Amino acid sequence: MIKKVVIIGAGPSGLLLAHYLLRRGKKYQIEIYERRGDPQLVSFPKYRTYSLALSPRGINALRNILGLEEAVRAVSVEVAGTVIHRKNGKTVFRRIKTPQLTLDRTNLAIAILQNLASSYDNSRVKIHFNSKCTHVDFTAKRVTFESHSIGQAEFRYVNYDLLIGADGASSVVREELLKTDGFKYQQTCFYKDYKSIFLSPTDAESKIQLQPGNLHSWRLRLNNATNLLLLYQLDGSWSGVLNFPHDKNQIAELSTKEKVLQYFHENFPEIAGAIADEEAEAFASRPISRVVSVSCNRFHHGDSVLIIGDAAHAVPPSIGQGCNAALEDVVVFDNLLDEYSDNLAKALEQFTIRRQPDACALLELSNYTLPLSQKLFVEFLIRTSFSTLMHKIFPKQFQPFLFDLITESTVPYSEILNDYKHWITKVKKTNEKVLKKI
Ligand SMILES: Cc1cc2nc3c(=O)[nH]c(=O)nc-3n(C[C@H](O)[C@H](O)[C@H](O)COP(=O)(O)OP(=O)(O)OC[C@H]3O[C@@H](n4cnc5c(N)ncnc54)[C@H](O)[C@@H]3O)c2cc1C
Repeated sequence: MIKKVVIIGAGPSGLLLAHYLLRRGKKYQIEIYERRGDPQLVSFPKYRTYSLALSPRGINALRNILGLEEAVRAVSVEVAGTVIHRKNGKTVFRRIKTPQLTLDRTNLAIAILQNLASSYDNSRVKIHFNSKCTHVDFTAKRVTFESHSIGQAEFRYVNYDLLIGADGASSVVREELLKTDGFKYQQTCFYKDYKSIFLSPTDAESKIQLQPGNLHSWRLRLNNATNLLLLYQLDGSWSGVLNFPHDKNQIAELSTKEKVLQYFHENFPEIAGAIADEEAEAFASRPISRVVSVSCNRFHHGDSVLIIGDAAHAVPPSIGQGCNAALEDVVVFDNLLDEYSDNLAKALEQFTIRRQPDACALLELSNYTLPLSQKLFVEFLIRTSFSTLMHKIFPKQFQPFLFDLITESTVPYSEILNDYKHWITKVKKTNEKVLKKI
């Protein structure tokens, strides 16, 4: 019997899962519902999107779908390493063994969406934009969607055999799971907030000297937990994120163009000259974004509901793994469908059993891989360089240090956490001390 799968959320994980289910043959018929408009037709405010980096976990997940890796590469910039800018103007370069793909989150979704539309017709997959899921009834297996036409709210009721909550960190499907027996989840705000920043191609080209093939990073004062990351974009512009502590942050006070320019001149002089007046004004009025992390003890309900990606395990972007893990979820679920011959009850239950420990580990790794204290950060750099060298000479005896292992391998997060428990505990303790002083 053909199963009707309703996917909530046309983000990277929901769209990729549609691909994986559809390539399993005509067993599944897919409907995707997305609260926003079609990203190919409407442009969102700049602050709603950002650049992200895909490492082997994410890239491997794309590779299994014919033509998808190539389509994503076509809208990505390959990054070979990180340039760490120091206060004295000097830089430290850290090469990445396996180059990462950096691209705008919306462009990633568009690439997966276009590939889906060109691979399958309407009879196999239907995508409904401007359709917000407002309620789910697990017993009746029915979802309520709200859409607006000419200012009037319209409601639509859709039945499903399998419901996938790929609806991000504020998941409505997860909210419904809360009403089921034994489901527990914790939502925590990260100690850092962020604001995006954009340098136009003309300003960037003439006024800054950065290397397009690398991620550029600055730390304001290590103990202040403020850092800036900048990535080159295909159109010649640079897109970045300024991360800063939620408590006692200076950024909220940058309410005018003049204050923004002064702040960047004082703290990030290498790029200040490339911030156009227009961008400084936009930066002042751009909302500050909060980062939430989500941790659940279960990702499924019976044989008919599953949450994946940020809906199941949103993490802070500090080590750039949220999307990689979201795409990896799809591969894990697909493998389980193979293993259990599409028996949904078994595959869903096993998804929680196999993936939940990795999701928990990823949260710990995202919170505590990178130290805030200056002393420990230097130790982190030394350990990383030493391990890289030893791994190069004795690949079997030495593994890369923590960050490289997370971002350059597909070793399960729980195994990595197990191997590096000592470091994580040390960083956790010192970060807590540093944060108390902010
Ligand atoms: C500043 C920043 C930088 C990041 N950098 C990286 C990085 O370098 N590498 C990395 O791997 N990850 C990174 N991430 C994390 C990454 O963006 C997310 O982990 C990833 O987008 C998760 O994909 P998803 O499909 O699960 O969820 P989302 O991308 O959140 O997509 C969910 C979709 O569901 C839709 N939706 C939500 N609610 C409803 C509803 N009620 N009804 C219908 N539709 C709904 C949303 O509109 C959205 O399109 C970063 C995140 C941030 C904020």
